[in-house]
Amino acid sequence: MTPSLHDIDLMRATIQLAADAARRGGRPFGAFVASSRGIIATGVDTSDASGDATDHAEIAALRAARASAGAEALAGCTLYASCEPCVLCTAAILHAGVRTVYYAAPRELALAAGYPDVVAADTARGIASGLTMRPLAVGDVGEPFTAAAAALAGRG
Ligand SMILES: [Zn+2]
Repeated sequence: MTPSLHDIDLMRATIQLAADAARRGGRPFGAFVASSRGIIATGVDTSDASGDATDHAEIAALRAARASAGAEALAGCTLYASCEPCVLCTAAILHAGVRTVYYAAPRELALAAGYPDVVAADTARGIASGLTMRPLAVGDVGEPFTAAAAALAGRG
């Protein structure tokens, strides 16, 4: 699986979505669902605001994609995540029928930035054998976490 220019553009947009969410005081995670024809849906992590621990960016994007394109259309889609998906999201991606995932930041970066949700990424890597999941580090994959830290400092 070699990333195309389309993949690289979408990953840059995913990183920006996550960084923008962080600048607004949200959690620094974003996701896109796209087909070869274009973007179907986007999502950001709203779990702090909603109090729902399942409101991760990947799941939000999958929910929106399912609502707009239908379940059948998801099978050929690619999911772009600003950070390596956690075990919850990896399972949701599999259940949604999406089989290709690119992620920007490795989980180690999220852990170092104070987001331990991705601790289960070892398990996610284990259950992801039915997925083609590859890192696609373009630009500054740490920008969402830098933006989140700056937003937190600004609030203090
Ligand atoms: Zn997740």
